[in-house]
Amino acid sequence: MDLERYRRQMLVKEFGKDGQEIISKKYVVIIGCGGLGSNSSDILTRLGFGRIDVVDDDLVELTNLHRTSIFNEEDVGQYKSQILEEKLQKINSEIKVSGINKKITKENIQTTVKNADIILDGTDNMHTRFLINDISIQNGIPWIYAGVYSTVGMVMGIRPKQTPCLKCISQSIPKKTSETPVLGNLPLTTASIECTETVKMLLGKQPSGLIIYDIWKQQFEQINIKRNPTCGCCEKEIFEFI
Ligand SMILES: [Zn+2]
Repeated sequence: MDLERYRRQMLVKEFGKDGQEIISKKYVVIIGCGGLGSNSSDILTRLGFGRIDVVDDDLVELTNLHRTSIFNEEDVGQYKSQILEEKLQKINSEIKVSGINKKITKENIQTTVKNADIILDGTDNMHTRFLINDISIQNGIPWIYAGVYSTVGMVMGIRPKQTPCLKCISQSIPKKTSETPVLGNLPLTTASIECTETVKMLLGKQPSGLIIYDIWKQQFEQINIKRNPTCGCCEKEIFEFI
């Protein structure tokens, strides 16, 4: 592998040549390839992660284009996972990108993530997030929760049995009443925070807790939440979604 393309990145003292070599051997599975997942996959491809799977069964729609930097009008009507594989592989031919055209379910999530070093949340619903949370805790695979709503992005890196899990901070699935509002540039900013947490966790650093960024008010909050000692998932190991 030629590291020259990463020269400027390796100058970052927190990251360095060691960090580059470590991430070049890491395998990331991104579940969901809308605004968050597509932007995250683009960022991780350029950073130089060794292997990236992008998992989604949706088609690119015109209404996706305001919040992603990688799809264009010609991609409308085609599968997101396939378009991403083609485009990302052209951005970085030294890594392995696989587009996986499937909807994540409790039946297929185990085989989809079993060898992953980390799972990234690119989904748009809490049910799939709780499913990822269950499989993460059960198999000891770290994951990064991320979500966007209107002008607010949230990110939390989860290291099984060391940091709070999603169930520690959210017990139930809120009822979805209508289409989620999203300012177009919010997913890219949130994906960027999500990818920083990914790099840090894979370099053995502690995740930064629950990060909440309001892109309209330009307010950034970092909340240190403790594990819930009665959490049904990471304490009692009751995996109700799988
Ligand atoms: Zn928990």
